[in-house]
Amino acid sequence: MIGDLPHSHIENDPQFAGLTVNQGIEPLSSVNEDSVKRFLKHKKGRTFSVQQYVDGILNGDITILSQAVTLVESSKPDHQETAQEIIVKCLPFSGNSVRIGITGVPGVGKSTFIEAMGKHITAQGKKLAVLTIDPSSERTKGSILGDKTRMEDLSIDPNAYIRPSPSAGSLGGVARKTRETIVLCEAAGFNHIFIETVGVGQSETAVHSMVDFFLLLMLAGAGDELQGIKRGIMEMADAITINKADGSNVERAGLARVQYMNALHLFPAPDSGWKPKVLTCSAYLKTGISEIWNTIDEYLTHVRSNGYFQHRRNEQSKFWMYETINEQLRNNFYQNEEIKMMMEESERKVLKEEISSFVAAKRLLDRYEQIRKKMNIHN
Ligand code: GDP
Repeated sequence: MIGDLPHSHIENDPQFAGLTVNQGIEPLSSVNEDSVKRFLKHKKGRTFSVQQYVDGILNGDITILSQAVTLVESSKPDHQETAQEIIVKCLPFSGNSVRIGITGVPGVGKSTFIEAMGKHITAQGKKLAVLTIDPSSERTKGSILGDKTRMEDLSIDPNAYIRPSPSAGSLGGVARKTRETIVLCEAAGFNHIFIETVGVGQSETAVHSMVDFFLLLMLAGAGDELQGIKRGIMEMADAITINKADGSNVERAGLARVQYMNALHLFPAPDSGWKPKVLTCSAYLKTGISEIWNTIDEYLTHVRSNGYFQHRRNEQSKFWMYETINEQLRNNFYQNEEIKMMMEESERKVLKEEISSFVAAKRLLDRYEQIRKKMNIHN
């Protein structure tokens, strides 16, 4: 009888000759998570010891360099610990590069420029790393592909290494990670480092504090306000370049150049003793690129001979030491669970005007001090 057959189907009844349904197979037990994890780990690549990372970096192994940078960017404490050990071991091999900051509003042609200038540099047999600081941008989400398509030629150049911005976070955190990445890139033999930033916010100051030369890209015909460039950013520039000086724009670019030169005269002379230059170029047509490179070279000769190059690097090192301390202290405080809870309560009380902001802050800091002391005793 049909009903008595296991997995019976009406078609299996002898009355339907020629029609049979094969027995199916048992469904698989649910996917084994452990083996999936092992597979993914294998796919991602193995993890290395600190010494293996360091050796790989010093040998210029880009895959290992990239993995080390990923550790630098990670917020996991064990990753951070490994990253710091790698950085300490790489430090003696770093510093031997020219660090150039490049900024300008979106659309000014930064990636086109970096590609043109980058190819100019790698053609001379030099090695170039391109890093980006952009803690806010949507663009950097999933940006490995984005940046690769932005700089097509450079991304396949064996002498170039392009690394997009660490994913969003506090500017201080993102900038610190970039600064640490510079150390690793230099240890891997990249003797030219470009750091790109979008010229609309605070990130310029952070970039300025980690480069030897700061280049501002501008457009002709658009007012400064339109370009979102603050006076302070112009003041930081060691050179301004008017991009897109091509076609019918050549004349306007020339005029803008004179205007910017006049504007720069009004700023106080920079400590470097260098008079910031204004140039024009077409990143698209790759014209004016070698002139900009020569200007950078001229600047470096100038600041190396008057001692400003080393002075600026020393100041930057001090600045980053304090920045790192500040960031660490802030993180420890804000990430403490008890403080987090107290913070909400304090905020409510401040808003209800039950206590003043200062009293609230003092109570939180005092409590944090107590927690820390207790932690020290237990350790
Ligand atoms: P970014 O947002 O600053 O990185 O700018 P992009 O490099 O992506 O360039 C924005 C647009 O400007 C693109 O369509 C480029 O092709 C164009 N562009 C960049 N440089 C030049 C240039 O020198 N001349 C002209 N005419 N167009 C350019």
